[in-house]
Parts: sequence; structure tokens; C-alpha cells
Amino acid sequence: MPKLGLPIWRKRGRRCAAALIALLAAAPLLTGCGTGLRLPDDGRRTVVTTFTVLADMTRAVSGGVLPVESIIKPGAEVHGYEPTPSDMLSAARADVVLDNGLGLESWFQQFVQRSEARHVTLSRGVEPIPIRAAGQQGAPNPHAWMSPRNAKSYVANIRDALTRIEPAHAETFRRNAADYTRRIDEIEQYLRTELGKLPEQQRALVTCEGAFSYLARDVGLREDYLWPVNSDSEGTPQQIKNTTRLVRDQRVPAVFCESTVNDKAQQQVAAETGARMGGTLYVDSLSEPGGPVPTYLDLLRHDAETIVGGLSGGAR
Ligand SMILES: [Zn+2]
Repeated sequence: MPKLGLPIWRKRGRRCAAALIALLAAAPLLTGCGTGLRLPDDGRRTVVTTFTVLADMTRAVSGGVLPVESIIKPGAEVHGYEPTPSDMLSAARADVVLDNGLGLESWFQQFVQRSEARHVTLSRGVEPIPIRAAGQQGAPNPHAWMSPRNAKSYVANIRDALTRIEPAHAETFRRNAADYTRRIDEIEQYLRTELGKLPEQQRALVTCEGAFSYLARDVGLREDYLWPVNSDSEGTPQQIKNTTRLVRDQRVPAVFCESTVNDKAQQQVAAETGARMGGTLYVDSLSEPGGPVPTYLDLLRHDAETIVGGLSGGAR
């Protein structure tokens, strides 16, 4: 994959064809403008996000006022993503670029250093939880959007970012953000109420990736996982052994895995302990339209229902 070493094109009106000519010598693997991020060319201000979850939240707040595009497409791996040169050229033309931060998009720092495009980090204001893993002490867990409480902070940051670039629609953004926040609250309330009905022993969330630290903290679940972050080693014999021991010792009723990774290791934990496979959780990507979680609210709702359903099947 070619690395960035690119001129930054900020001037609105410069089009993809011109960008390609400038890039061809430096980026031999670039195949064309049709494959990557594309921004509309109708004169409206534009917003780019790094991945699909942020794009959907931003569309909800924008309410159709501003076009919103995601660099990473539905279903693609977020951790360790390598942007194409055309992704970055398009992103540089946006009026604002929204990223997650907390170390999720390591490639984005390079973009920020080279681009004059305005950018806003949506996890700003969130209290980070450190990753619990050998060799990663102190690094923040990036999955802050999985907590409804944090999501409301993201929504406020999105509202403020959109208002700065399109102040004439400030009231629309304020109203949309307030409506969206109420819907996030409803899902959080459902999860709290349903988990509150379970015996303490059953309130445990064991997943493949350690992506649920914020959610678990907010709703009172014990959390464990096979590996801390995707792109590290996934499903090693030691990880399987450690999780198997924990699930057995704590009599955890069900274990879960996420949509973007292989669930083979977790299947092995389930087989060795008798825990149920509780279902597929969505974290790092939305699905395509028509899939199970085309929006962020669908993702939160699906995960809440899957967790409650998996843990409610009785103690072992
Ligand atoms: Zn992840």
C-alpha cells in the first residue's frame, strides 16, 4: 500500500482528475477515483468521518443539511486501516473531518500533520479507560462510542462541529442532536432495566475483542475478552486457555463474538466450558443498508438485545 507523501489539495473545485494526474508518479498503486472516498460536487459544505459509525451519527445530527461520507466503508476493518491516496485527497477537500481519537486511527495523525483541513476529535471529553493487556499499559481503549453515555458526548461534539461550519442551520442541528440523544437514552434505559433483572452472577460480558469496556462500566457488567484489540494476536492458545478458565470459574452463561472477526476461538471456549454462544455483536463497523445494523442506533439496539438475550437464558 503506498504511504502518504502527498500534496494537500484544499481548494474547493479542484477535481479528482487533476488530483490523479499529480499523484500518478507518487502513487503507482492508485487505480482510480471510483474506488475510494468521493465527495459531492454541488457546492454544499461537506463532512468526512473516518469510519461508518461516526458517519451515521453525523448524518443523524445533520438531518440531510450537509453531505457526510466515511473514509472506511461498511464491514471493513477499522484497526490498522491503510487509507488510499485518493481517500486522503478527498478528505482534505472536506470542510471538516471527524475522527474518533483514542488511538483508533493511527494513520489519521499523518493526515492531520499534512493537511490544513479542519478536524474535530469526537471522543473529546470522554474519560478514557486504559487497555488491559501486556505491553499496552496506559494506551486508551478506543471503543468509547460503544457506551451510550459517551455517545451523547460524541453527539454534542458533532452538533458543535456542524454548527461551526454551517451556523445558519444551528437550530436544526440542535434539535436533531436532542432527538437523537433521547433515542440513545431509551436504549441505555432498556439495557439497564433488563440487566437489572438478572442475578448478579449472570451479569458478565465475555467477547472476542475487548471493545466493551465503556459499555460494561456504564451498565454494571463484568467484562472479559479473548484479545484486547483487533490487529493484535487473535485467538492464541494462551488467550483461549485464560478465557476458558475464567468462563468456567465464574460460571458465565454465554460468550459473544463480533461481526468483523473470526469467532472460531470463542466457539472453542464455548465448547470447552458449556457456555452458550450468545450471538454476534457489532462494534467497529455498521453493516450495508439492508443488513442487520445499517445505523448506529440499530447497532446499539442489536447489541443490547443480543447481550440481554444471551445472558438471560439461565445460569449454568
Ligand atoms: Zn475494535
